[in-house]
Amino acid sequence: PPKISVEAVTKLYGRKGEVRALENVDLEINEGEFVCLVGPSGCGKSTLLRMIADLHYPTSGSVKIQASGPGLTTAMVFQNYSIFPWKTVAENIGLPLEVNGTPKAERVDRVAALMDRMNLSDFADALPSALSGGMAQRVSIARALAVQPEILLMDEPFAALDAQMRRILQDELLSIWQEDQRTVVFVTHSLEEAILLGDRVVVMSARPGKIIGDYRIPFERPRR
Ligand code: ADP
Ligand code: ADP
Repeated sequence: PPKISVEAVTKLYGRKGEVRALENVDLEINEGEFVCLVGPSGCGKSTLLRMIADLHYPTSGSVKIQASGPGLTTAMVFQNYSIFPWKTVAENIGLPLEVNGTPKAERVDRVAALMDRMNLSDFADALPSALSGGMAQRVSIARALAVQPEILLMDEPFAALDAQMRRILQDELLSIWQEDQRTVVFVTHSLEEAILLGDRVVVMSARPGKIIGDYRIPFERPRR
C-alpha cells in the first residue's frame, strides 16, 4: 500500500466554510519518494502538508498514513526554524529524544552524529541567536531527523535563506535523502526548486485548491 493516501479530501476554512482551501484532492505517495508540492500562494500546499502531519483534519475525505514501526511517523520542518532561543544547538536537536525518553548516552551519541552530518559540531554549545539563517535551519532539520521519522515534512524550509545558502542546504538535503531514501514531502512555491529537488513534482492551483499535474522527474538526471 502507499505510504500516504489522500482520498477525496476537501478542506473548508472560515465560520461558514467560505474558504475552499482544498477541493476533492486525491494523492498517493509511496515509500521513499521525494515529492514536491508546488503552486502559487494560497493553493492549499500547507493545508495538505498539515493534514499529513495530523495537525489539521479534512472537512471530508481521508488521509491515511501507513506506519511501519512504533516510532514517530512524521516530523516537520518550518520556514521560520522554530527552534528554542534559550537552548543550545545540541539541546535543541536532543529535545525530541528527551521527550520520547531516549536514554542519555544514546541521546548524546545521536545528537553528536547529527551535528556531524549537518556540519554543526563546532556550534554544539552555541545559542540560536549566534547562528545564521542557514545554520538555524540545519538545526531544525537535524532536530526533525533525530526521531528518525518515516516521513519528513518540509514547509518552504529554504524560502527565507539567501540564494547561496539555499543551494548549499538543497544539496545537503538531497544527499541525506539519497543516503537513507526516507519519504519526503516538500512544499515550495518555486517550480525551479521543485524540479531540482523532487523525484516527483505535484502541481497545484488555487481557488479552490486542486492538483492539476503530477510529474515524475527521471532519477538519473544530473542534479546540478
Ligand atoms: P499555501 O500553503 O499554498 O499558500 P494554505 O494551505 O496556507 O496555502 O492556504 C490555502 C487557503 O486557505 C488560502 O486561501 C488561505 O488563506 C486559507 N487558509 C489557510 N489557513 C487558514 C485558516 N486557519 N483559516 C482560514 N483560512 C485559512
Ligand atoms: P541534561 O539536561 O540531561 O543533563 P545536557 O544539558 O547535558 O542534558 O544536554 C541536553 C541535551 O543536549 C541532551 O539531549 C544531550 O544529549 C545533548 N547534548 C549537549 N551537548 C552535547 C554535545 N556536545 N554533543 C552531543 N549532545 C549534546
